[in-house]
Amino acid sequence: MSAEDYYEGAVDSLAAREYESAGDQYARTAWQTLAEPRSNQSPFASDSKGWVGKGIAHLVTSAICYRVAGNAKRAADRGTEAYAVASDFRATLDHPAQQACLLEIAADARAAGDMGGVNNAYADAAEAYREAGTAVDDPQFRSTTPLFQSATTLLQQVARSTANGEIPITWEDFHGGDPSSPGPFLASRATLKQQRFPELLASIIESRYFAAPRGTTEYNNASYTCPACDSSDVNWVGDSVLCMRCSTPMER
Ligand SMILES: [Zn+2]
Repeated sequence: MSAEDYYEGAVDSLAAREYESAGDQYARTAWQTLAEPRSNQSPFASDSKGWVGKGIAHLVTSAICYRVAGNAKRAADRGTEAYAVASDFRATLDHPAQQACLLEIAADARAAGDMGGVNNAYADAAEAYREAGTAVDDPQFRSTTPLFQSATTLLQQVARSTANGEIPITWEDFHGGDPSSPGPFLASRATLKQQRFPELLASIIESRYFAAPRGTTEYNNASYTCPACDSSDVNWVGDSVLCMRCSTPMER
């Protein structure tokens, strides 16, 4: 099966609120993605887009699923794995901003796996972004590459789980106000996560609810109704049609 197939399985498991299974499927998605981040691309080739970041982010998401499932041991093991892989690819993605982003994802892994040292890890990432600033011409381009997007959607998926399916933390929230100062512009990502990620994780672990990722959404679709909450706001993600509000599969 392809990475896409496993990803669809992960989304199905989230929709069924079977989080142990979702953790397994996200891990399989990650391993397939890491082996070949895009068609015919080696993960060991330098890559200005950083597609390999998607695979690392799936490992972090896997750890989050195990946390929500109440399986702390597997969450810690997967978080440790995600941390190691993020550190490993610092040898491949060699632009200073990419290196800083890998530190950010490594900090995410520590938070997801409840491994401790989270504040220091985000502080290291913020410092690396500030130091990378002189090497970055266009921080807005950087922050929309797959590497950075993967790190952004990680937090957004957790955040939407606590916000009725909306995305309460936007791309603008992640970044400083002034792209002409690339270092601080990017460093604000790590600072935001340090402030918000552990608290949002604690919230979804307590509620035992982790939303599906947000794909293509539509409000008030006349063809669909959610059997759980009566919403007609739709989220198309993977090959599923889910309720945008509560991630339950929609009925026609
Ligand atoms: Zn619903």
